[in-house]
Formats: sequence, C-alpha cells, structure tokens
Amino acid sequence: MAIDFSNTEIAFKSKDNSALRKAYWLFRMVGSPRLVNFGKWAINFSFKLRLPIKWLVKKTIFSQFCGGETIEECSDAIAKLKKSSVGTILDYSLEGKESNEDLDATTNELIQTIERAKTDPFIPFSVFKPSGICKFSVLEKANTSTDHLNESEMKDYGMFVERMNKICKKAHESNVPVFVDAEDSWIQDSIDRMCEVMMWKYNKEKAIVYTTIQLYRWDRLDYLEKLYEKAKRDQIKIGVKLVRGAYMEKERERAKEMGYKDPIQPNKEATDRDYNEALKFCVDRLDVFAICAGSHNEDSANVLVDLMEQKQLDKKDDRLYFAQLLGMSDHISFNLSSYGYNVAKYMPYGPVKEVMPYLIRRAQENTSVSGQTSRELSLLQKERKRRKTTA
Ligand SMILES: Cc1cc2nc3c(=O)[nH]c(=O)nc-3n(C[C@H](O)[C@H](O)[C@H](O)COP(=O)(O)OP(=O)(O)OC[C@H]3O[C@@H](n4cnc5c(N)ncnc54)[C@H](O)[C@@H]3O)c2cc1C
Repeated sequence: MAIDFSNTEIAFKSKDNSALRKAYWLFRMVGSPRLVNFGKWAINFSFKLRLPIKWLVKKTIFSQFCGGETIEECSDAIAKLKKSSVGTILDYSLEGKESNEDLDATTNELIQTIERAKTDPFIPFSVFKPSGICKFSVLEKANTSTDHLNESEMKDYGMFVERMNKICKKAHESNVPVFVDAEDSWIQDSIDRMCEVMMWKYNKEKAIVYTTIQLYRWDRLDYLEKLYEKAKRDQIKIGVKLVRGAYMEKERERAKEMGYKDPIQPNKEATDRDYNEALKFCVDRLDVFAICAGSHNEDSANVLVDLMEQKQLDKKDDRLYFAQLLGMSDHISFNLSSYGYNVAKYMPYGPVKEVMPYLIRRAQENTSVSGQTSRELSLLQKERKRRKTTA
C-alpha cells in the first residue's frame, strides 16, 4: 500500500502555530531567486564587516535547517524529533577547512558526535564529509592513484587515512554506524577507495561504515554491483546510503570546460530509474546490504515501502532506513515514521558563520526554480488552513 504523504497534521505535528508561520514565511522568502541572491550577498558582506547579524540569521534560516551551534544546543531539536519517533543524524557542517589543525579539530568533533549517539537510540547514525578531514587538493590529486603524490602530499594523505580510521574505529567500538558522504566526482575515487578499506576492516559482522552512492552518475549502478560481488566473496557487509546527488550543475560545467565525458545521467528520468533500481538491487540482497534511502522524493520512498511489503520485511529492521534533511520534506519523514518505518533527519550544526555555505545551498535549492519550495509552501499553507478550520 502506497503511503499518502499529504497528511499535514502528522507532518507538522511538532510545529506549534508560530513555528508553522515562521516556516511558511521563510519558504516564501527563499522562493524568490532574486531575494536569495541578495540575501547571500548581504549576509556575506555583513559577516565580512563584522556587523551583528548572527542573531537574525540564527532566528530565521538557521533555526529552520540547523539544530544549533553545538551538540548540546541540538538537544531540543533532537527531543522534538524523538517525540514523533524520528531519529537524528548529527551533521557537523564545517566546510572548506585546509589546515591540519582545523582538520584535526573537525575529526575530534566528529568523535564527539559518535560519543553522543552512543547513549541515545534516537541518534542511529553519525556522518562526515571526507573533504572535512582532508585537504581537497590532496583528495583530488590522489583520485586516480596515490603514486604521484609528493612527500608533503603523501604525509597529508597519510593523515587523512589516520583520521578516517580514527572515526570508523570509534564508530565500530561504539556500535554507531557512520555515513561517509559522497562528493564531487573528481575526489570520489579517493573516497570510495578509503570507504572500501574501512568497510573491509569494520563491517565483518554488520554494516558500521556506510558508503554513499550518487545515482545521478550513470556509472554507479555498475559500481554497486561490483561492490556487492567483492563483498559477497569476502563475507563483508556493505552499508550504503543511496542518494541522487547534489552537485549536478558543477559536475556538468567542469566536464564541459575540461572536455571529458559528462559523468551525470542524460536526464532526470535516467537518475530516477537508476535510483529506484539501486533500491531494488539492495533490498534483494540484504544478506550483504544495509540501506539508507537519503531522498526527498515521494515516489522513491514508496518504491522502498513497496519492496519491503513484497518481501514482508520488518519495518523496524535496522538494515532499512529512510532519511531526509532537517527542515525539509517533513511530510515524508513524519508520515513514514507514523507508519512505523525507521526514519532519521540529518541535523546540521556548527557556528552560524561556518554553516553559512550549507544554509545558502539550502536556500538556493529551495528557490521557486527547483520546485521544492512550491511543494513545501503548499503543504505549510494546507496545514495552516486546516488548523484554522479545526480551531
Ligand atoms: C539524508 C540525505 C543525505 C544526503 N547525502 C548526500 C551525499 O552524501 N552526497 C550528495 O551528493 N548528495 C546527498 N544528498 C542530496 C541528494 O543527493 C539530492 O541532491 C537531494 O536529496 C535531491 O534529490 P531527491 O532524491 O530528494 O529527489 P528529487 O528532488 O526528485 O531529485 C532531484 C535530484 O535529481 C537529480 N536530477 C535533477 N535534474 C536532473 C537532470 N536533468 N539529469 C539528471 N539528474 C537530475 C539531481 O541529483 C537532483 O538533485 C543527501 C540527501 C539526503 C536527504
């Protein structure tokens, strides 16, 4: 039975009237590309001039899409989700750090997220971006092979391996599975290589390390199949977060500029087809796979629901999870969880200024161009109307 995601009473249960109003106005504002572009410029400019705008950002866009500035500050947001049986994935959202001190500090913070998760069944996973613990240029140069790294790059690469091992080892000891986010294709081979090393080390009994597969790439189903064959042969469990992929424009532009074959599918239909195919491939092979469907697409959520029903799989099977981002697609998260499925939200956190690139991306993704806003807006509007008529 397909889930009807239009029940806004369930979707927005955790929002009181004022929170609902705030979300509505926020999505109206980010619906305008001109306003988003101006806001991006104004915020960056104000931060550069050290104008005191942090409180404004924190009360508006930050509170919609982030849990807090620290793990401690996320407690309220975690508790709110928990009330609807929705889990949290603490996502320390610092980007663009390049010094080894900063990369070490991020690694230590990630260890703290695992510590926090260890004590709370409603924080089922931890997560990190490899570019948050390694210099981007080193990941890029190592993409094809590490053979041509110079001495200093080799040292940096070694530190990346150590940091990644530290996080995965901690995840393994704490029994808190860890997602490794997928990034640009020109660093993704470096990431895949390390993910495989970690999975082969820590996923002997269960999936602790989860790799991420971006199905907007035309070569990923093939990679998934090969990964399965190797894992089956070596009796390794594969944790896999299935996503469509977040960097399409950048990927296409770079391929065009540098004159290599576009790594992205020819159209949205092909991405959707491979995404749903990947879900099926993994659900058919749960002897090896544990899956997290990271998506805001209602059809794909229902594809996984259908597959689980066909196979009579337990909704609480911990090899099967749905995940969305905090502040987005609550109608999917809360409706799925009301039917008893495992659901968790990525909860980005970090100092306001540091998470600005993440927030600007969310705002851009939610402009009227992408169509996401109209969906969020109409759901918020529907719920506001419903509350007025039932009050
Ligand atoms: C919990 C979670 C974790 C995530 N982790 C990652 C991650 O680690 N790495 C990452 O890259 N992304 C990640 N994402 C983002 C994700 O990849 C998507 O960008 C986002 O979720 C939108 O896709 P969707 O599945 O929700 O569905 P939809 O909104 O139906 O699909 C939009 C997506 O389809 C694809 N698409 C759109 N137009 C075309 C076209 N013309 N041709 C080909 N493809 C097209 C693009 O990938 C686009 O983002 C994550 C998302 C979530 C919810």
